[in-house]
Order: sequence, then C-alpha cells, then structure tokens
Amino acid sequence: MSEVFTGNFTQQEPIPEEAIEAAVRVMRHGRLHRYNIVAGEVSEAALLEQEFAAFTGSTYCLAVASGGYALAAALRAVGVGVGDKVLTNGFTLAPVPGAIASVGGVPVFVEVTDHLVMDLTDLQVKIASSGSRVLMLSHMRGHLVDMQALMAVCDAAGIAVIEDCAHTMGAAWNGVASGTQGVVGCYSTQTFKHLNSGEGGLLVTDNAEIMARATMLSGSYMLFDRHIAGAPSAVFEDIRLDTPNCSGRMDNLRAAILRPQLKDLPARCKAWNARYREVENGLRNVPAVRLVERPSNEDYVMSSFQFLLPEMDGAAIHDFVNRVATRGVELKWFGADQPSGFTSRHDSWRYAPSQELPQTDRVLAGLLDLRLPLTFSLSDCAQIARIIRDEVMKGRS
Ligand SMILES: *Cc1c(COP(=O)(O)O)cnc(C)c1O
Repeated sequence: MSEVFTGNFTQQEPIPEEAIEAAVRVMRHGRLHRYNIVAGEVSEAALLEQEFAAFTGSTYCLAVASGGYALAAALRAVGVGVGDKVLTNGFTLAPVPGAIASVGGVPVFVEVTDHLVMDLTDLQVKIASSGSRVLMLSHMRGHLVDMQALMAVCDAAGIAVIEDCAHTMGAAWNGVASGTQGVVGCYSTQTFKHLNSGEGGLLVTDNAEIMARATMLSGSYMLFDRHIAGAPSAVFEDIRLDTPNCSGRMDNLRAAILRPQLKDLPARCKAWNARYREVENGLRNVPAVRLVERPSNEDYVMSSFQFLLPEMDGAAIHDFVNRVATRGVELKWFGADQPSGFTSRHDSWRYAPSQELPQTDRVLAGLLDLRLPLTFSLSDCAQIARIIRDEVMKGRS
C-alpha cells in the first residue's frame, strides 16, 4: 500500500486565545469603527499601525480593508491615473493586475526568471518601451529579487517602486525588511497570508505626502489626527480637499485580532521555514525535480513551496498532479490550460492588453506549488515530499 497524506492544505491555525480575548473586549465596548474613540483612547487600528510601522522599520503605516485595497491606494497615492501604464510581474496573483485596473491603469507585464523573480533585463526593456513611471513589484510566492539591483535599475530610470509583500511579510533582503526598499510596501492579512484577520491590509511608507493621500483615500474624513503612525497634520493641508474618499478602512475588531499575532510573527516565520526546508530536503536530488535555490542575501518566509518539472510535458504533469492528489497531496500547477482556484496566469486577465511572455509561459508550464500551513507537522512535510518523490519517479519508469 502506498502512503496517503490526510492533512488539510487550507487549514490555518486557530486564532490565538489572546487575540480572541482582545476581539471580545472590542465587541463588549462596541466601538468597532476605528475613529469611534472615547477621550484619551487610542484605537486598536491606530495601535496596530504603530506596531507594524515599528516591525518593518517604517515611519508611517496605514491599516486598510484588504491587501488589494492597499495596492490600489498606493498606486493612486503615487499618482497613477486613468490610462497610465504600470509595470508589474507577469507571474503574480490576480489582485495585483486587478489593483492596477481598479485605478484605470494599464498593466505592462515583465518576464519571470527560473528563480521565480522578476527578470531585470526584461524590466529594463519594458521600462524603455512602455515609458511607465511606476513598478508594482510583486514578491510572488515569497521569492525576493535582488533588491539592490532592482532599485538601481528603477532609481536610474526614475521609477517609483510599490512592493506587493502579500507573501513576504517578515522577509528581508540584506537584512532590510521586505516592503521598505520601494516607496510604498503593501501587505495582506487575509487568511492565507502571514497574519490572519480574514481580510485586511497594511501599507507602509516613509513618504509623508503619500501616507497622507493614502489615509484620505482610505476614508479618514478629517479625522486623520487620530492616527499615531500617520503623516503629520500639516501635510494634509495641501491634499485633504483634493483626495477622494474611497472607503477601505480597517476596523478595530480586525486590528485587535492582528496585534497579538504580530507579536508572534517571528516565531511563526521560523516555523514556516522549518517546514519549507523539510520539503526541500525531501525533494533534493530527485531526478527531474528542479528546486528553486535561494540566494544568501535573502531572509525568506515560506508559507508555500515551489518546484519545477522542466523536463515533463503538459500531459505528464497533468497526470502527475492527479496521481499525487489521489494520495492526498494538493498541488497547484501554474501551467494548466484553464484558470482554477487562485488564478495567476497573465493570459487569464483579459482586461489587460494581451502580451507575449514566452519566458514566463515556459517557466509556468513546469511550475508546481503547495501550501504549507502551520497545522502541518515536520513529519507531515516529510511525508508530502516522499509522496511527490515517489510519483515523480513512477512517472519516469
Ligand atoms: C493575496 C494577495 C494579494 C492581495 O491580498 P488580498 O488581501 O486578498 O486583497 C496581493 N498580491 C498577492 C501576490 C497575493 O497573493
């Protein structure tokens, strides 16, 4: 009998008791709206912003309704408007081109490399051909591009970089927190990311004017002085009547759930990486499997695992994915013809102009992905790797 894995790939850990108690306190007093405070009170949302700014080493932080909302607010706050081209990754998740489309922008996709990061040569080509002034850089699946090299390219061309850190909260490049090299960093606290409030997003920046615009956009009315990690009030003087209110605030209930989780984040990051390495070790030296080697400058946080099967054709991969599925291992294949589940292929975003990305198509054709929720033990991870290895070998015999 071949072994079958019985874990659930979408089951996250429960919310910690301390967070549940904090949520109950907010519900008991009833002031869920972030600007609903009594004299002398600082709201949970404002405290979360202060703590997350400190966590990333940023001057300012804004808590919003989702990661996608943070991305759209960042684009608008840096000045992207209708018809403006925005450079972004050809390999990312749908909320990224979606955020660009939501402000009337036009995504210009940049190729991905075999290391699953943005191709900096293609970036330079696309900067020149598009004339775009903004890059929305998605650290897709937790893989950080050489940030020094990327920032050198963008600084030289006068490109503002917005970082999508939905998969890199807690990660760093050369010791600098992901989300703080670009002008704005955006994070998600949706259930499948590194903090879980169901839905939610965070935006960090050191730029006071961008912060003030994002705050007005999020729906601060004229209550922006109730932020403690917000832009100085004087900065709002120039922009407060010119910036539309596109409500997308975070509420105190979510913020209360997130604050205790943020304290635990470093420990959780270690736990994810231990699981990642367990799978990585189990898949080392398996013929046909190519692992994504990680540069030493990168401090990653891997809540998912990626590997490539570059030698197999589509039919063989399709068959392989089905075989591992019957043994309880859920793999996402980025090369499938039809989008399913969480889409991540540029050709399934037809609202964006269709673009030729031969290198990205080739990489995605052989790319597989699995989630590593913290509810999996290390031995679960070892078992998952054994099943994958077993079925890769069978496919070759
Ligand atoms: C989840 C995700 C987002 C946006 O997050 P939401 O909070 O769901 O809007 C952005 N980018 C990537 C790569 C994501 O995976």
